[in-house]
Amino acid sequence: MTIPQSISAPAPPEPTPANDAPSRVTPMMEQYLEIKAANPSLLLFYRMGDFYELFFEDAELASKALGIMLTKRGKHQGVDIPMCGVPVERSDDYLHRLIEKGFRVAVCEQMEDPAAARARGNKSVVRRDVVRLVTPGTLTEDTLLDARTNNYLLAIARARASSGGDRIGLAWIDISTAEFMVTECAVGELAATLARINPNEAIVTDALYGDADLGPLLRELPAVTPLTRDVFDGATAERRLCDYFAVATMDGLSAMSRLEATAAAAAVTYIDRTQVGKRPPLSPPSREAAGTTMAIDPATRANLELTRTLAGERRGSLLDAIDCTVTPAGSRLLAQRLAAPLTDSAAIARRLDAISAFVADGVARDDIRSILRSAPDMSRALARLSVGRGGPRDLAGLRDGILAADSALARLAQLDTPPPEIAGIMDALRRPARDLAREFERALAEQLPLIKRDGGFVREQYEPALDETRSLRDASRLVVAAMQARYADATSIKGLKIRHNNVLGYFVEVTAQHGDRLMAPPLNATFIHRQTLAGQVRFTTAELGEIEAKIANAGDRALGLELEIFERLCTMALAASDDLRAAAHAFALLDVAAALAKLAVDDNYVRPEVDHSLNFAVEGGRHPVVEQALKRDGAPFIANACDLSPPLAGEGRVGAGQIWLITGPNMAGKSTFLRQNALIALMAQIGSFVPASRARIGVVDRLFSRVGAADDLARGRSTFMVEMVETAVILNQASERSLVILDEIGRGTATFDGLSIAWAAIEHLHENNRCRTLFATHYHELTALSAKLRRMFNATVRVKEWQGDVVFLHEVLPGSADRSYGIQVAKLAGLPPAVIARAKSVLAKLEAQDRGQTARALVDDLPLFAVPSRAAAEAAPPTEAEQLMEAVKALHPDEMSPREALEALYRIKSLAAKAGK
Ligand code: ADP
Ligand code: MG
Repeated sequence: MTIPQSISAPAPPEPTPANDAPSRVTPMMEQYLEIKAANPSLLLFYRMGDFYELFFEDAELASKALGIMLTKRGKHQGVDIPMCGVPVERSDDYLHRLIEKGFRVAVCEQMEDPAAARARGNKSVVRRDVVRLVTPGTLTEDTLLDARTNNYLLAIARARASSGGDRIGLAWIDISTAEFMVTECAVGELAATLARINPNEAIVTDALYGDADLGPLLRELPAVTPLTRDVFDGATAERRLCDYFAVATMDGLSAMSRLEATAAAAAVTYIDRTQVGKRPPLSPPSREAAGTTMAIDPATRANLELTRTLAGERRGSLLDAIDCTVTPAGSRLLAQRLAAPLTDSAAIARRLDAISAFVADGVARDDIRSILRSAPDMSRALARLSVGRGGPRDLAGLRDGILAADSALARLAQLDTPPPEIAGIMDALRRPARDLAREFERALAEQLPLIKRDGGFVREQYEPALDETRSLRDASRLVVAAMQARYADATSIKGLKIRHNNVLGYFVEVTAQHGDRLMAPPLNATFIHRQTLAGQVRFTTAELGEIEAKIANAGDRALGLELEIFERLCTMALAASDDLRAAAHAFALLDVAAALAKLAVDDNYVRPEVDHSLNFAVEGGRHPVVEQALKRDGAPFIANACDLSPPLAGEGRVGAGQIWLITGPNMAGKSTFLRQNALIALMAQIGSFVPASRARIGVVDRLFSRVGAADDLARGRSTFMVEMVETAVILNQASERSLVILDEIGRGTATFDGLSIAWAAIEHLHENNRCRTLFATHYHELTALSAKLRRMFNATVRVKEWQGDVVFLHEVLPGSADRSYGIQVAKLAGLPPAVIARAKSVLAKLEAQDRGQTARALVDDLPLFAVPSRAAAEAAPPTEAEQLMEAVKALHPDEMSPREALEALYRIKSLAAKAGK
């Protein structure tokens, strides 16, 4: 048991507005208004005793947001002052709710003992100061953070270019883990970059916030804080960064462009401001070179449901399905990887090697995972300690982390030949000094309080001076026990007790029936009445007062000593923070590798072959999320192959990737097929095994996925316009290396409109973008295009018609569907039989007019639409490579004589020689 060390002070008797003439501003209000004026856009938590009070408009906003009572406190210039308050002890909870609702809070503390203020004179006010600004992007408290996600503050700087090609510099920091990244991008890439970083708060200049083009994009972020220009001043950026990192020049830390440095400086300046001078240590900014990650725009992320479903839930997302990590840091790292798949096949292979090691050795995998389960979140513990908000359990976390590093190392050492990534992990785990853990082990008690001020966290026999003070305190407590026995004896009241509470301190308590005796002579000479309750009466004695003072003194001293020890240990930890952080990161890497290996084994995934070709060939592909869902219901997932690789020609592959046009009835599995292929590419590039029996993937530079308007209802803006804007982005941006998924584009408008747009879009993709593409549609007319577009291939999802109903087989095969079976699906869904019958007869009429006929005619009549650049070039004489391909296509081996075959070989050989030049 710990005895409260000090009795909480009552709210300081400061002069309140009520005591003064109505029109005068009291000194306290004066102080309040001054502090408030310095923090205009934040709610001011103004400390008064055990409460943070809010006044005026702040009080009105907060009481509404938190559902707490709005009261009044005195008058200001003749008008009532609205007020509400939150108890300091529970303030984290209230802060959390306010931050979530988009507020920012300035926390203003009492900087001196109220007694000191009183000593200065009756009217003087307790000195107060803002000690911290709480904003969504600068949190460190465990209670305010989600353990499994990073909490990024992002600074966005823009450099104007006269040519119109503005550049954007970005710097993002998670102060709860010390990660610090910078990069630069073109204005057009900003949306995808923001979606990837997914910041909790962004800071920008006022000008950028108000910008007509970029402003709307920024305002879609969860929180944006506009700041004055000086924070984004490029001229002082380097100096501010050097100042923060306490170095003479940034050269040694990292190479950054001027624009990146501007953003980085803005970010650290803002952190400095919000932490009010306490500087959380940050890793040196690490630069993310352009083009090293797969670009994925926000719409694609949303509709592939990478981290959230369209309904906004984590459950049902890809991340949720593949996250088998056992630590919060591992979970954060996996989310980071998923947000930013790589484009360098060597880096991808390095990650895959680590997973392969754990796929091959199941025992090692399980052992490592159980070691990791006991490893605490060291990076967040460190961050809290560094800004003075850490507690004894954070020190214990570091101790346990180092011990876990030893166990992990011992286990990893048994691996045959650890691949480079695991060897790197082992190096990092060796870094933290073992002495530190030993010191913490000696110093920290078994049971630790959450906050250091509760005391009792230093182990006995760690520091003699502390042991001595503690025994003094405990001895005095024994004296109290003896005193109780003595008083009970002297008064003959058996039930007499000496007890303690925060308000009275120690007191003697008897039941009401004995109360009168103690208040009458002779006992009243010893027992001084303090309080009468319904059933009890409470007293104090001179003797008890003395011993109480002794206990309190000893207790205060013991706590003082403990806090000194805490500071010492904290300093030791922070001195080792680089090593500890490296080890923490190594744990996260290890967790992700083991977790992805477990996933691969459990769900039967295969290692993808990733290179820099334009291939995309998946055999036995499955949708990772749908497969898991079906498995839970005991249903099988039908695996499907997909090959978008450039067509074979001669001895190798030439030209660009293919377009697969997928037709088939509703509910057949078209959307699932499209998405599974996008997800397989993405998973391969985060360096994970994939749900397939074989996958050969040429690195994808950009991934695009679009769904026709009607599927987009969940986002609440299902307009055809949105669909078209998004399609425009693809047609303008997709390159030969991109992978494009288009699901029923064009269906948000009238049939012929939609068909025409889809038609033109496919031609453009084939001739201009030349990207690997999957296109699902109900416009069966489009299948006719394959006659003209050489790299277009028709596929369909098989169904069986059985007694007028459809049976879905979910098999993707070459060919095209002649109908959508919409009416059969409607029947399955329970539309009234009369409606079904009527629909059938209408359909029969329409089919008689045969739109398909028209389409086939169109393919013949319409020249390929007038695409400018590349298509024009293609209309020109065919290239050698194409001649070669045509020559091969023209061969009919079964009808050739040996001699003809030999001649053909010579012809091909000579064409190939020309093509190779
Ligand atoms: P479509 O886009 O053709 O209308 P969906 O892709 O939305 O069809 O699939 C409809 C349902 O069929 C899915 O929710 C899923 O449960 C099931 N499904 C799709 N593909 C498969 C598959 N390959 N194996 C098993 N079930 C599947
Ligand atoms: Mg669909």
